[in-house]
Amino acid sequence: MKANVWTGRNRLEIQDVPDPQILNARDAIVRVTSTAICGSDLHLVDGYIPTVKKGDVLGHEFMGEVVEVGPGVRNLHVGDRVVVPFPIACGACFACEAELYSVCENSNPNAGIAEKLMGHAPAGIFGYSHMLGGFPGGQAEYVRVPFADVGPIKIEDDLPDESVLFLSDIFPTGFMGAEMCDIKPGQTIAIWGAGPVGQFAAASAFLLGADRVIVIDRFPYRLRRVQRTGAEVLNYEEVNVLEALRDMTGGRGPDACIDAVGMEAHHPTPAMYAYDRTKQAARMETERPYVLREAIMACRNGGVVSVIGVYGGFVDKFPMGTVMNRSLTIRTGQCHVQRYTEPLLNRIRAGEIDPSFVISHRMPLSEAPRGFELFKHKQDECNKVVLTP
Ligand SMILES: [Zn+2]
Ligand SMILES: [Zn+2]
Repeated sequence: MKANVWTGRNRLEIQDVPDPQILNARDAIVRVTSTAICGSDLHLVDGYIPTVKKGDVLGHEFMGEVVEVGPGVRNLHVGDRVVVPFPIACGACFACEAELYSVCENSNPNAGIAEKLMGHAPAGIFGYSHMLGGFPGGQAEYVRVPFADVGPIKIEDDLPDESVLFLSDIFPTGFMGAEMCDIKPGQTIAIWGAGPVGQFAAASAFLLGADRVIVIDRFPYRLRRVQRTGAEVLNYEEVNVLEALRDMTGGRGPDACIDAVGMEAHHPTPAMYAYDRTKQAARMETERPYVLREAIMACRNGGVVSVIGVYGGFVDKFPMGTVMNRSLTIRTGQCHVQRYTEPLLNRIRAGEIDPSFVISHRMPLSEAPRGFELFKHKQDECNKVVLTP
């Protein structure tokens, strides 16, 4: 089969790779009908997430048709149409019982590698490095889906792929980012990052009752897109974000702040950016945590900082003093997607939201490397790329 393969830092190629096979009783094989490029794939492609290897198949946002099931999968049948959550979860361990699917204790065969870096291991994730299981990803014609009786959600009506595909990651991720803010009526939520996850976080904050949502980015086309959700916007290249947020909230600061940027943040002032960029390039710190620092500084006393942008390792100059002295709560996690697929599918069915609003580019899987270039360099107002095998 054809797949989008990582062949070195910033190098991708469409290659022929072996077809996936059923290895365990609870596996299914899915023929991919739609897959997407994610912002978090960019951290893999440029080598900032450790343990990506030459020949790895990328992609963790995909859906398709079940073409084969193992003998332990009773709820899915050949021909079923499914969306597959990006974290792989067994459904039966301590974490899965608590609906903390992205930290499933049974789905990461390389837990030992992750434990060395993180203390304990998170779940396996499709197409997301060997530390997270080494599972071939969904930017391919076929994928082996482990624990297929737990994760995939069946799509039984005629909703198009484009309306349900993002149940695999970015809609639940944005939603969880907003949910972690514990939003009360009348509250103001600030979101760093107007990419697709920031757009879903903004839409979700309104669904959950936020009064005002303020989104921070530097690309006018992304800010225009997120304005369609009803959000106000700030361009950090034009204003001092901390001052602007203070002014917009009567001096108090937003009730909650969402970091939808993560480890490769840009920075309006050159000195601190150069500091982080240099340390990151020399691999002396793995992250450029500018947004995280700013979100913490901006948040009102006693507020919540919700982190859904991806981090891989260690951050420097972390303002723990302000977190502690101002009674902030930091909440974070890779999305526990399986918790959200059903309720969010119901919201899509009810017409509360159509997730296809984030799509800017559609192309065949064979053009995935070009899609990555457009997306990475924000060319052609690229917001979200959907690939069809
Ligand atoms: Zn993703
Ligand atoms: Zn589990």
